[in-house]
Amino acid sequence: MVTGLQTSEQRRRMMSGIKGRDTVPELSLRREVWALGLRYRLQYQIGRTRPDMVFVGAKLVVFVDGCFWHGCPLHSTMPKNNREFWERKLRRNRERDTENTQQLEAEGWRVLRIWEHEIRASAANCARRIAAMLGKIKESTE
Ligand SMILES: [Zn+2]
Repeated sequence: MVTGLQTSEQRRRMMSGIKGRDTVPELSLRREVWALGLRYRLQYQIGRTRPDMVFVGAKLVVFVDGCFWHGCPLHSTMPKNNREFWERKLRRNRERDTENTQQLEAEGWRVLRIWEHEIRASAANCARRIAAMLGKIKESTE
């Protein structure tokens, strides 16, 4: 029973990964960031990358990394079918993440990568991390 639930959950995450944009974690993070009064650009192309959020003036980019597609150390799972294909594909994804981060940093951007599971745990905390990096964190007793 539990195994079945996990499998369908993984499958759902894979499907949302294929979609690539506007996943549930991305949307909940955006909502929290917006609620803090922080404004960002979506679909803003920098070189060959298109981060999930771009704070142009502050030169900060944010990526939301899905646990499956980006090889989260805690939740990465390898599909049993076509194992070689998936190993190659997911390794390539991680390499590309690293290359993109290095490229952006070389161009003077700060890069914040947030795991999907961190947003699922608390989108509000993730938003506060962004606010802190922007030097705009508000004192809060929450
Ligand atoms: Zn994870």
